[in-house]
Amino acid sequence: LCCHASNMAKVTGYTAYTDPNQSIRIRIRDLMMRMTLQEKIGQMVQIERANASAEIINKFFIGSVLSGGGSVPAPKATAQQWIDAVNDFQKGAMSTRLAIPMIYGIDAVHGHNNVYNATIFPHNVGLGATRDPDLIRRIGSATAREVRATGIPYTFAPCVAVCRDPRWVRCYESYSEDPKIVKMMTEIISGLQGELPNNSYVSHPYIEGKSKVAACAKHYVGDGGTVNGIDENDTIVTPRVLFGIHMPPYYVSIIKGVSTIMVSYSSVNGVKMHANERLVTRFLKKRLHFEGFVISDWQGLDRITSPPHANYTYSIQAAILAGIDMVMVPYNYPEFIDGLTDLVNKNVIPMSRIDDAVSRILRVKFTLGLFENPMADNSLADMLGAQENRDIAREAVRKSLVLLKNGKPTYAGGFLPLIKKQPKILLVGTHADNLGYQCGGWTIEWQGLSGNDLTIGTTILKGIQETVDPSTEVEFIENPDPATVRFSSFSYAIVVVGEKPYAETNGDNMDLTLPDPGPSIINNTCSNIKCVVVVISGRPLVLEPYVESMDGLVAAWLPGTEGKGVAEVLFGDYGFTGKLARTWFRRVDQLPMNIGDPNYDPLFPFGFGLTTEPSVQT
Ligand code: BGC
Repeated sequence: LCCHASNMAKVTGYTAYTDPNQSIRIRIRDLMMRMTLQEKIGQMVQIERANASAEIINKFFIGSVLSGGGSVPAPKATAQQWIDAVNDFQKGAMSTRLAIPMIYGIDAVHGHNNVYNATIFPHNVGLGATRDPDLIRRIGSATAREVRATGIPYTFAPCVAVCRDPRWVRCYESYSEDPKIVKMMTEIISGLQGELPNNSYVSHPYIEGKSKVAACAKHYVGDGGTVNGIDENDTIVTPRVLFGIHMPPYYVSIIKGVSTIMVSYSSVNGVKMHANERLVTRFLKKRLHFEGFVISDWQGLDRITSPPHANYTYSIQAAILAGIDMVMVPYNYPEFIDGLTDLVNKNVIPMSRIDDAVSRILRVKFTLGLFENPMADNSLADMLGAQENRDIAREAVRKSLVLLKNGKPTYAGGFLPLIKKQPKILLVGTHADNLGYQCGGWTIEWQGLSGNDLTIGTTILKGIQETVDPSTEVEFIENPDPATVRFSSFSYAIVVVGEKPYAETNGDNMDLTLPDPGPSIINNTCSNIKCVVVVISGRPLVLEPYVESMDGLVAAWLPGTEGKGVAEVLFGDYGFTGKLARTWFRRVDQLPMNIGDPNYDPLFPFGFGLTTEPSVQT
């Protein structure tokens, strides 16, 4: 059928594919019959917002556009600016011969994190500690509303990696080292997309309505199991580990109707996942009956070869034959389009493979209602950073905190909760008044930011000031000099230290020591005054040398914009309830160390977490 002259004509009269009363199956079939090879291949291409325009989308029949990490239409863009930008691209797609809408995707991985004024939720490492699937579903719903508020129907979330080694940079994007907890947390998919109706005995991509978005389980598969926790490395595993530890979150995601799955840059037993026909086509599509579309990672095809882009024709062939349906940012999209066209014309890639890819992409677009409502409106714009969403985020912060130490043998009782009414308390540390640090990577910028100007939110300092008694003076000294601070004038100190933001390549860390000046701040403070140390980090760090000096120790992970949640638990408005979803190792030479390993000798074991009762204070 391809490219026959009659197919190229503008479509007039009744068409089944535009008729919402037809089943999706019939609509897909009708549309596919009308499409040329060029139109089909265009659907398989996703290009970066910064390189896209209505003209390009129109000319190449581009099927999808994304905002990669931190790519925004304007600094601090408003919901309306986002909507306008997305609609501009959509006009390009809707003015093609068949008017097939493009789908716009973004990394909303802890809330709508690229967008100014959005609610930033704790990163997944903290959410795992809540073990609260109802909360995670509400986070998904709130995130979906905020993403839709900006006219976007698709997020590259959740990351369902089972991070087995905290040296891996993306550990904070993983809910847990334990697949049971990651499975539990896939409930976020029900929040993002809506819940598959009870009577659907077969799962299929599902999106409930205009306030929901298509989700993407990533990175398939084994991304959290690479050797030494090195990002994009090889995952060397037995079938038992692959199918028993890394795969289970995908089983559950598919049952929940996840619309898309992203392939990992990493390899499994030496085979790049982007070229892994056995795991993508034979296992994911045929065995697990995944019916949504498989998307590559950013320039993932190029990285099939080393160096990247060394033999692009080979990469295209390997990836498309492996079962990848949509290609996120081909290094050079005209080259990709020509290359794939050529491979199909030479029968290296069968037409049936292209049809499989395109029908999966179209299915998600039909499911999203994009054919009926291609243009975004501003009916949900108020949802961006809405108080009701911030309240959910604050609840998540409270429940994610894990109390690791409370009190010392030298005195009776615990040290926490802290007393709200005191003449003067001391707050110290690099992370006490830094919104960027408490949000981590994937916040406004790909690598995250430092400081308080990046977006709207509450730092831990601000949260403490709002929580203590109005008569209590909170003195903040970022890096106290013990020679000049009069520790005796304070009741106690709160120390907030930790890691600075990072994302992907830059963040692999082979020693996992507490970064400077964290150790000296702890030593200078805790040797002079009773102190509770709050650690802001994407993973456990080496803390054993300092723990003895502390009266309290709290893992706060990367809490996001609602820092007040930390204060509310420190001061007893709520109790500590979080439990470690990761093993807190003693020394890096123990890594990888996971629950169930022989010689398991952690500083704090998986599942550990002290509790406190809420304390009513006037
Ligand atoms: C990351 C993905 C992300 C994509 C788009 C890649 O570098 O690995 O997790 O979804 O970029 O920003």
